[in-house]
Amino acid sequence: MTPEDENMDDLSPNPKAVAYTDPLTGLGNRRRLMDKIRKLASERADDPAPFTIGIANIDGFKPINDLFGHAAGDEILCQVAHRLRACLPDGGFVARIESDEFAFVLPLVFEKKGAEKIGRMFKDVLSAPYDLGDRNVRLSASFGFAVYPFAGEQFAELLKSADTALYRSKRRGRGQITVYSEEIAEEMRRGTQIEQALRRAIIADEVACHFQPIVNLADGSIQGFEALARWTDKEMGFISPSVFIPLAEERGFIDSLTETLLKKAAETAKHWPQDLFLSFNLSSAQLIDPATAFNVLAVINRVGLDPRRLELEITETSMMSDPEIAAKVVNELHSVGIRVSLDDFGTGQSSLGRLREFAFNKVKIDRSFVSEITVDTSAEHIVRAILTMCEGLNLKVIAEGIETEEQTAKLRSLGCKSGQGWLYGKAVDAAATFNLIEAQEMGRNRAAKGFLVNR
Ligand code: C2E
Ligand code: MG
Ligand code: MG
Repeated sequence: MTPEDENMDDLSPNPKAVAYTDPLTGLGNRRRLMDKIRKLASERADDPAPFTIGIANIDGFKPINDLFGHAAGDEILCQVAHRLRACLPDGGFVARIESDEFAFVLPLVFEKKGAEKIGRMFKDVLSAPYDLGDRNVRLSASFGFAVYPFAGEQFAELLKSADTALYRSKRRGRGQITVYSEEIAEEMRRGTQIEQALRRAIIADEVACHFQPIVNLADGSIQGFEALARWTDKEMGFISPSVFIPLAEERGFIDSLTETLLKKAAETAKHWPQDLFLSFNLSSAQLIDPATAFNVLAVINRVGLDPRRLELEITETSMMSDPEIAAKVVNELHSVGIRVSLDDFGTGQSSLGRLREFAFNKVKIDRSFVSEITVDTSAEHIVRAILTMCEGLNLKVIAEGIETEEQTAKLRSLGCKSGQGWLYGKAVDAAATFNLIEAQEMGRNRAAKGFLVNR
């Protein structure tokens, strides 16, 4: 039987076949895939030859559906199904398991290299234009593969491994191919270990908020602080927020972590002098949640922090998964007086149009440009261009990651007014932050007194 026949017999009208068939594309469905994999696994249990399964997911399918309508989306899915079926290697099988997700079984692919080769072929086949009658559409797909029995001996485990590999691909961008490997398995185990410890730490209130000063570059005076999450586990030691924040997002408990952190940060900031602001990082998960503005406001109202003293930092990449909801969240935050800054500017897709579409108040120039500004003229040109553009758009600018006096001098000469970085102070706990503020106040008082005496 050819793979074509295998998939075609799904089209027969008997009720059993219907239960195993995806009505839109005529391919097998998840149940059919499960049967296939179980059957193959039981055959291979005696004969320990590996086989491979894979998942293909269309990149950005939702916007295609939204833009061209569901009929066009369905047409594309049918064409994808047709192409995959047509280019399946010997003995292969393909099913549709989610709206824009296809899974395949490759009985004659035994290892990573073979899987990657098939992945590249599928990727090329799917990237050719799709004919929608009045127009052509192009798209890309991401792939995740898992090889039996290493990546799992049972259907559920094997599919989960392919799904993990797919997730890796998606995280790396569009059109990527990943095969589940020992390193991925190790990272997953480590991830699970961190997840469990972090969940415990949130309940035990062990995740802290530290504060890094944001200063006026003209005189070094403090204008506000950025709250940065800090966590040290008893066994694993210090774990960076760039590790545990994405993990909490991925595993679905970022909301409770953010709420705890925002509450702590707001409670500290409430006691600072009124002219100092608190800058707090929003996670990407919160930009796809329409309730974010409401939730943020609820926390700071409960604590009693004036919303006009709060700034929320968001990154470009985090706005990309659903720009419409992100825009709604940003507008709602504005309407209650909370300001919004664009963090890590220059590292994401940096669409200039977005600066206009979204009502940001500030742009934070990424550390990668600041650290190069005195040694690399192209970094200097980029910073100069960002500053000129922001001036025209009436956006304030903060330079991130200033470590030397030379960098400050250069930034000032280019017209940058605010910055933060180790030169001015690393993030420190609430008590040390108060000491910093107090030292500044005392310095001011002394200066004022000196001014009076000198008069
Ligand atoms: P970010 O928001 O861009 O924060 C700036 C990062 O640069 C911080 O790293 C800060 O400690 C570091 N940094 C500041 N000045 C310097 C400098 O002069 N030199 C160098 N080398 N580094 C400097 P950190 O604290 O490890 O945070 C990493 C990222 O984790 C943050 O990047 C932010 O995206 C995320 N993050 C931290 N805290 C939170 C939080 O409470 N919520 C969310 N959603 N994300 C957070
Ligand atoms: Mg930030
Ligand atoms: Mg940043």
